[in-house]
Amino acid sequence: MYSKSKKQFFDWRNFFRSTHRTALAITVAVGMAMFIGSQAVANVLVLSDARIVNVELESVSTPKNILIDTDSGTISLITPAGEPIPEGAEVIDATGKFVVPGLINGHWHYEPFPDVFGSPESRTIADLQRKTDKLILRYGFTTVMDNGSDPAGTLFITNLNREGTLRGPEVHSAGDAFVPHPDGTPVFLRPLVLRDPATPEEISAFISEDSINFPDELFYGVKLFVGSPQQEPPGGLMLMDIDIVMAAVQTAHGLGKRVFAHPQGQLGAAIAVDGGVDHFTHLIGLDDPQNKALYEQMVANGISLNPTLTLFQALDITEGETGILAKVQEELRFFLDIGGTVIFGNDVFSDEVFNRTGDPRREYELMKEAGMSAFEILRSITVVPRAFIEGIDPVGMPPLIRVGAPADLVVLSSDPTLDAVNLTTVEVVVGKGRILWTPELDTTIGGMF
Ligand SMILES: [Zn+2]
Repeated sequence: MYSKSKKQFFDWRNFFRSTHRTALAITVAVGMAMFIGSQAVANVLVLSDARIVNVELESVSTPKNILIDTDSGTISLITPAGEPIPEGAEVIDATGKFVVPGLINGHWHYEPFPDVFGSPESRTIADLQRKTDKLILRYGFTTVMDNGSDPAGTLFITNLNREGTLRGPEVHSAGDAFVPHPDGTPVFLRPLVLRDPATPEEISAFISEDSINFPDELFYGVKLFVGSPQQEPPGGLMLMDIDIVMAAVQTAHGLGKRVFAHPQGQLGAAIAVDGGVDHFTHLIGLDDPQNKALYEQMVANGISLNPTLTLFQALDITEGETGILAKVQEELRFFLDIGGTVIFGNDVFSDEVFNRTGDPRREYELMKEAGMSAFEILRSITVVPRAFIEGIDPVGMPPLIRVGAPADLVVLSSDPTLDAVNLTTVEVVVGKGRILWTPELDTTIGGMF
């Protein structure tokens, strides 16, 4: 069984309730003689006087009060600033600040190397909280899309999130990954050995088995290393058989799951596109920059893309792949110009390997440098990944910040519609109606666990 987290290590919710009034400089709106009907208000959290960023309409509102029902975790009311606030509500003064929908990191890995760094189960809760604060919450991510990790570890951590033992994000995972046969685990993941189904029947059986062992609401996808770089010969590339890709897609779609492809260059990308995958976890890095037909096919087939520009910059600097960043930035611009769908993600691991600290600032800067507008970046980190997770079309979706919607909200000190880098000016993070992060709560900068 995978539910190893039954033991309560710490009741975070009680801890939080008793301390956050002072810790968060919350002002309690006593004396404002106003009730909403006869409703008790102990369960109301208010972000007051906030300017709401409507990503869908590309607009910023006049100051509003956002009332949150902390029991249901949803937005219960949005009123003009200055309107009375329910007596007894907990109020976060957001005067002069901006509220955006909870950010979604579309490329994250909870535990890709359990054998190397130890499994989550082997770590203390305090250590897991520090990592969650440091790599996820402080940047405003209320949701992460895990693009391949040890599923038992991911389930272990998300159970702690759900119980309230950890302050953590909503998680959607592609489980661990499949690699080409035989023994095609990518060189950068060794000594890990991933499953390498030899036949279409075998990969279908694995996916069906996983769907029984792991809950659907958490494991919403399947990850394929369609192209997989190998140590021998140097620069060697193993490719997944297209029949296996197609079988994976058919089985996954039949179970309501998406299929993620790691393309690794033009050859892998072509198989992934022809095989019918839903999403690329990186830009391609075309061998022939003039051959953009693959991107055109991706747009025609509705395949979304995670640029991971920071990763390409790291390859450029440390691996000597000179010019790769400029090349993929040009590909990103082309993909957007022809109507491609981009999902933000900076390919973060849960440890600081490969110098990935979680900080998305550089990714925002590089997306901007590739020609993405502030609203294009905002869409790629909110509306588009949410639609992908829900399996719906982002066009015509109701606004993420609306009455009745889950209260996943981030308070920023600076306007992200002027410059997407302002998405790093995070002050408060609310996830499902609960305050997940403030500087005072952050366990890596003095917050108590
Ligand atoms: Zn990755």
